[in-house]
Amino acid sequence: MEGPLTGWTAAVKANFCVRNTPTTCSSAMLENFTPTFDAASVSLLRKAGADIRHITNCDEFGMGSTNTHSIHGSVRNPASPTTSNEGQAWDLEVERVAGGSSGGSAAAVRAGLAKFALGSDTGGSVRLPAAYCGVVGFKPSYGLISRWGLVSYADSLDTVGVLARTVEDVEAVHDALAQHDSRDPTSASEDARMKAATTSQSVLSSLNSSSQPLKGLRVGIPKEYFPEELHSRVLPPFRSAVSALEALGAEISSISLPSTRSALSAYYIISSAEASSNLARYDGVQYGFHKPPVAGHHAYAATRTAGFGDEVRKRILLGTFALTADAFDNFFLQASRIRAQVQEDFASVLRIANPSRKEEKEKGQGVDVIVHPSAVDTAPTLAAAMQEGEGGLGEYVQDILTVPASLAGLPAISVPAGVAHDDGWPAGVTLVSQWGCDKLLLHVAKQLQ
Ligand code: GLN
Repeated sequence: MEGPLTGWTAAVKANFCVRNTPTTCSSAMLENFTPTFDAASVSLLRKAGADIRHITNCDEFGMGSTNTHSIHGSVRNPASPTTSNEGQAWDLEVERVAGGSSGGSAAAVRAGLAKFALGSDTGGSVRLPAAYCGVVGFKPSYGLISRWGLVSYADSLDTVGVLARTVEDVEAVHDALAQHDSRDPTSASEDARMKAATTSQSVLSSLNSSSQPLKGLRVGIPKEYFPEELHSRVLPPFRSAVSALEALGAEISSISLPSTRSALSAYYIISSAEASSNLARYDGVQYGFHKPPVAGHHAYAATRTAGFGDEVRKRILLGTFALTADAFDNFFLQASRIRAQVQEDFASVLRIANPSRKEEKEKGQGVDVIVHPSAVDTAPTLAAAMQEGEGGLGEYVQDILTVPASLAGLPAISVPAGVAHDDGWPAGVTLVSQWGCDKLLLHVAKQLQ
């Protein structure tokens, strides 16, 4: 079909249903699952003329930050600063992860296999791989792009994201996808979209477009986004991005988002609880993998033990525990409270009111956009990531800067910010804005390229 994306090559993460094409979610559980329909975003891509060429590897069911938890194997980061060793065996101490969970999508874009890729972002799965691979990764406001046909991980957090080389390309894809869909009960209403677009537009038109295109824009740097785990090598790329914003006329100030540290634990409780419920459907009876019962075991247990990888089983156990009557108050309820605090933190620093929350009033104080390093470090080596997979907490720490925007449903975009001076690997800078202000965010991100 002819449309705005005609001739654009696309890669789609393996957790989107693509008609007559295996949608494995990188899991043995769905190894033989071939959907008979397209996800809403996939059919919109086809309508816009895109040429879907590849299905990309990911962490199993989207759970992971390194794309090493997959039946298809690990993804290697193609952004290596040293000469290509194509065709040679991978040196795991030298090669780096592409990030997760949308690692295959980021790597495909970086390696030039596709002009753009779809990913899913629940807690950072588009932004983190984008930062590690040196490409643009955009997680839109929650509810703007239909999740229909995207295999659920944690419904209250899942978003469809876009990866490409430039912000312009990301925006063109986003424009083709951001539509109301009655099949997705969390799809934002036309009314909310309209209000958000008007607000976003009013800030955009207030910016002086003469010699200083960002004059009038207020940008905040949250002080909690520089935790002890943050490596100093990501700071120079971050500082140059901030200087660029300043040179374009933006007014920079320091802000505080006090619940940032607790957000990570809250995220893992909430996402695992939702995952434990979502993944209950893989019972070996209706569809997917089935393992006959072995002596003394139920078919359900045999199927789920063999069909899910270690990381997914860990999340199901954690999520199921958090939802039990005994643990509910101390885990799930606590995590939900922290989520509300994280949302409150953002509401109190953002100048623009949240158009999806009726009670909010327009405020004069505050910032329009938040800026922070995309990740606490450049990509870890494959060897380090695999060691972490053996039970360390390091993999989860990689998400510390991305999960707050997910808990609050806010749009966030990671843009390449150059390479770290000592290891030569890409570092990203992330911009976050108010719900529905995706156009404003994309406009600011374009100035940073
Ligand atoms: N790394 C996070 C997790 O494992 C984020 C994943 C995602 O956004 N899909 O939950």
